[in-house]
Amino acid sequence: MKTVKSQFKFKGGVHPDYNKELAREQPIEKIPLPAELVISMSQHLGAPAKCVVKAGDFVRRGQVVGEKNGFISVCVRTSADGKVKAIEKRLGPAGGKADAIILDTTAKPEGEVAEASGPILEPLDWRTASREDLLKRVEEAGICGMGGAGFPTNVKLNPPPGKRCEYLILNGAECEPYLTADYRLMLERAPRIRLGVEIMRKILGGPAVRIAIEANKPEAIKAMETAFADIDGNVEIVVLPVLYPQGSEKHQIFATVGRVVPEPPALPIDVGCVVENVGTVAAIADAVELGEPLLERVTTVSGGAVAQPKNVLAPCGTKYSDLIAFCGGEKEPVAKLISGGTMMGFAVSTPEISTTKTTSGLLLLPNSKAYQYVSQACINCGRCVRACPMNLNAAEIAKAVESDDIKGAEDAHVMTCIECGACSFSCPAYRPITQFCRRAKNSIRARIAAEKAKAAAAAKK
Ligand code: SF4
Ligand code: SF4
Repeated sequence: MKTVKSQFKFKGGVHPDYNKELAREQPIEKIPLPAELVISMSQHLGAPAKCVVKAGDFVRRGQVVGEKNGFISVCVRTSADGKVKAIEKRLGPAGGKADAIILDTTAKPEGEVAEASGPILEPLDWRTASREDLLKRVEEAGICGMGGAGFPTNVKLNPPPGKRCEYLILNGAECEPYLTADYRLMLERAPRIRLGVEIMRKILGGPAVRIAIEANKPEAIKAMETAFADIDGNVEIVVLPVLYPQGSEKHQIFATVGRVVPEPPALPIDVGCVVENVGTVAAIADAVELGEPLLERVTTVSGGAVAQPKNVLAPCGTKYSDLIAFCGGEKEPVAKLISGGTMMGFAVSTPEISTTKTTSGLLLLPNSKAYQYVSQACINCGRCVRACPMNLNAAEIAKAVESDDIKGAEDAHVMTCIECGACSFSCPAYRPITQFCRRAKNSIRARIAAEKAKAAAAAKK
């Protein structure tokens, strides 16, 4: 194992204020179990899980309450014992609504019920377990990408015929401002991450491993060097220059191994790579060795308006209001509440939204950090074009969407936009370019889905 510097620098990128000092030194703290959890069926990318319990049921921690509902989907397990009070459509962090279980965790089962004991799933010895058993475990543990994308991990770890993983890349960049959850995991759970890597290497047939960490996290680099010191095989820690969006999957592949993922629908596996967030890797280790499904995660609660910024280990389904209370509440009025980081996160209207498997951060920004800019006309300065790491003409896309010309945005390759926010960050006219891109992508996806549905209906006739 060796540590090397990245040899490849992608085009564009920006340098936002990182503000990580607020929570960086705060060890991971477990929140006491909230009295009510709101467990969404849509915690991952793809089809929401199908709810298989009903109001009045008593459920046990780890029980499947939502079945996987398609190839790109994962199951949902309850993160605590409790009584299902109701099943309702609830708002998620990105704005959409999905079925959610409202769970009363203070309720006791009726009659005599034996206390739950032992692991939820049978622990496996990864050295003797077959590749298929390990893959099945990742699937039944309900694991999806915890960096934010939520892609089902068992699908990623099972390349289609004809594709082979040559590089397993561990994403420890955490380039989003304020967020320190992955950083603390690397400091506090490095041996678990190493175990997860060994398991994934076995599933993927022994690829080389690259552990990508930005240069501004020397303690994390040290912790990973110690944990991986005696590992066999082709393993390198690649120190990346500090540049947003270094944590983007495509940019990390380029920065670590110099390969370029072509335009969608191409995927990292098309260039022989699989990228996984360090939290996901630790979750795989827990699922295999301890039989513990993905029921909780670390979320950074930070921003100048929260009394005590922390890295909180909380059950999936914890309400933001409970996270805020655990962090001492608000020390000044909150001008903006953001789910995720300031670059790619979503401003949310209420703290009654709950965490999912992908909730990396919750930011409480005071007035001094939540400027209310007035968007102006484009002055053709080209800064957004220089900042775009995907080589897009962001100004052109924004102008097209503004005039409802979605076809024009599509022709300008808006579907390759990774919604990183670098263009909006750079724009002196404060134009909401990223939102324009999101709008165009949503409308194109809706059109494609409608065309597919129409074709399927015609085929049935
Ligand atoms: S949000 Fe899209 S258009 Fe803007 S910089 Fe990022 S990739 Fe480029
Ligand atoms: S940065 Fe803003 S003002 Fe400059 S070209 Fe891009 S959209 Fe126009």
